[in-house]
Amino acid sequence: MEELRKSILDAKRIVVKIGTTSITHEETGSLNFAKLEKLVRILVDIRNSGKQVVLVSSGAIGVGRKALALKEKPQEKSLKQACAAVGQARLMMVYQRLFGEYNQTIAQILMTKVTLLDDVSRENATGTFRQLLELGIIPIVNENDTVATDEIEFGDNDSLSAIVAALVDADLLILLSDIEGLYTDDPNKNPDAKLIDYVEKIDKKIISMGKGPSTSFGTGGMETKINAARIATDSGADMVIASGENMSTLAKVLEGKNVGTIFKAHKNEEFDLIGFVENM
Ligand code: GLU
Repeated sequence: MEELRKSILDAKRIVVKIGTTSITHEETGSLNFAKLEKLVRILVDIRNSGKQVVLVSSGAIGVGRKALALKEKPQEKSLKQACAAVGQARLMMVYQRLFGEYNQTIAQILMTKVTLLDDVSRENATGTFRQLLELGIIPIVNENDTVATDEIEFGDNDSLSAIVAALVDADLLILLSDIEGLYTDDPNKNPDAKLIDYVEKIDKKIISMGKGPSTSFGTGGMETKINAARIATDSGADMVIASGENMSTLAKVLEGKNVGTIFKAHKNEEFDLIGFVENM
């Protein structure tokens, strides 16, 4: 495991996913600029060290809801999509300003399931990612929530980030969320639940750990994170689940320290990404 952690230092192409709860204040839902600033500084530093970086950021719906001063979480699809339309633009404005402080050019890529399932769209998206990364740009990705409906939505950015990792042939995917990593049981209910620091292979036992009720495990839930791990590791990327509570955790992961849960990559040439996503 030590060696695997150290191999993180050699990762050349890294995808980082950040969840809404990690970039907003819990009490108010407003953006947490201190955290965003730290995130951006760390990402630019990785980029400056010669690595390629993709950021998958949630927050469009949350930021839009705040901008529209909605007291309740929007339930109706059109209202949710309106929030996303407002929020995505605001979110990018904030990222533009923060990355601009460090002279880092960013780009926006919004995707739906169709981007992956349609051959032409998938090739176009892959080409765009490659080109942006070669140009030293940090693409910022989200689901295209304003048009995605049940049939074409990923529904969560855990899966989306793993798909992005597969498309760009990443070496490492880091999921920052409101949990420390994968536990043997629900830590909110079972005080004896233990954090698993290393997953060599995603077997039935690991898959069953993700089947619990997702509410207590944060936005995407553990099931989506295990699904993401299956996509990422089969596509040849190591994956780390770590807490986004404090951005120093991200720095520690990147230094090869033992935080969160690391899933070892097993590149599987037979892996059918499209088939897997179709059945999700
Ligand atoms: N795409 C959603 C948003 O930006 C978030 C989905 C997720 O958190 O997994 O608001």
